[in-house]
Amino acid sequence: AYLDRIEAVDGDINAFLHVRRETALAQARDVDARLARGEELGPLAGVPIAHKDVFTTSDMPTTAASKMLEDWQPPYDATVTARLREAGLVILGKTNMDEFAMGSSTENSAYKVTRNPWDTARIPGGSSGGSSAAVAAFEAPLATGTDTGGSIRQPAAVCGLVGGKPTYGGSSRYGLIAFASSLDTPGPFARNVLDAAMLHEAFSGHDPRDSTSVDAPVPAVVEAARNGEVEGLTIGVVKELDNDGFQEGVRRRFRETVELLESLGAKVVEVSCPSFDAALSAYYLIAPSEASSNLARFDAMRYGLRVGDDGSRSAEEVMSLTRAQGFGPEVKRRIMLGTYALSSGYYDAYYGSAQQVRTLIKRDFDAAFENVDVLVSPTTPSTAFPIGERSDDPVSMYLADLCTIPSNLAGNASLSVPCGTAPEDGMPVGFQIMAPALADDRTYRVAAAVE
Ligand code: GLN
Repeated sequence: AYLDRIEAVDGDINAFLHVRRETALAQARDVDARLARGEELGPLAGVPIAHKDVFTTSDMPTTAASKMLEDWQPPYDATVTARLREAGLVILGKTNMDEFAMGSSTENSAYKVTRNPWDTARIPGGSSGGSSAAVAAFEAPLATGTDTGGSIRQPAAVCGLVGGKPTYGGSSRYGLIAFASSLDTPGPFARNVLDAAMLHEAFSGHDPRDSTSVDAPVPAVVEAARNGEVEGLTIGVVKELDNDGFQEGVRRRFRETVELLESLGAKVVEVSCPSFDAALSAYYLIAPSEASSNLARFDAMRYGLRVGDDGSRSAEEVMSLTRAQGFGPEVKRRIMLGTYALSSGYYDAYYGSAQQVRTLIKRDFDAAFENVDVLVSPTTPSTAFPIGERSDDPVSMYLADLCTIPSNLAGNASLSVPCGTAPEDGMPVGFQIMAPALADDRTYRVAAAVE
């Protein structure tokens, strides 16, 4: 049914980069056979899923929406892919994204522009916009994404879905095409809190193949999603993440949701996190710095594209021609920013101070969590904006992640849950819940109360 739905609507939505009908059906038959043999596959066995095209898949191409990896067929599965395959989930296909996960609208894909199913003139968010659009358009019940600065929570918010960024290290980066390794976090998209929690649980947990994986039990997110009890919890509203510049309808829905939680017995306090004002600036030094280093591997030798290798050019010339042609403008912008920020003479002023800001943000969170159980904010300053509106203005695009970035810099748990639609445009609004590292269960618990 989902494959048929994809066939019917994806011509308009453009959520998918690759759909492999026969592969999916064969996998589904294999799951049936495993169940018939009495194998215990877990609660999501047989449920179809769409993967962001940044997770390697041994039976489908993986491109990170870049020309650099056009038609690249990985020889192995990412840990997230492998664990979900093992649990019996059926892969429908791979979803569109901003190239190498750099963006907030999925307009930076080298292949296609994905549309928001709520209003196809608007963006589905990004960088995991193919995943959010696929779930919102009923093309998949579940999807994976990655969140480096907001790329799960922001698309979830603007498509009316639940989307979570687990604690950094709580979900494995093995087999995930790297953008900014100290921030990249795989996470779930779903239509409701319990589905998201079940998916979260299914791929999370320690992975010896990821050196930053946390060796701790997976937080009890499914139990928390079933519980939804907020009586006695203290909820902090972050003063710095809600101001006059935010869309009125977003602020209104946010305030109503806070009141709802209060009426359910939570104690609400205002919290100031002064360093959050510098989070966006620090992120746009740290993330590009790590990206410039990670993307050095695309050297025209190891993967995918190779341009001008006709025997007349040096390796360096081939490399430079390939990178000029293979990377899109936003990726080049990040590589230049990052290379500059890391260069000798500027390293301390840019990368060094950004890392100091990162520590201050972490301290703001630590201080806040001494007094509150969770922090909350709108997930995004505005609802989904029209396609094309911000594509020529990187700074306005970067502002879409104003509220989500602090949790990436601190590495803690954060989740977006729908809280209604904005009266002025009828588009979905997201409510963000942030909790300390390894307290992911609290985000699901509060989200279940909001839902
Ligand atoms: N929009 C942010 C960026 O462009 C975040 C991306 C992400 O989380 N992958 O870097």
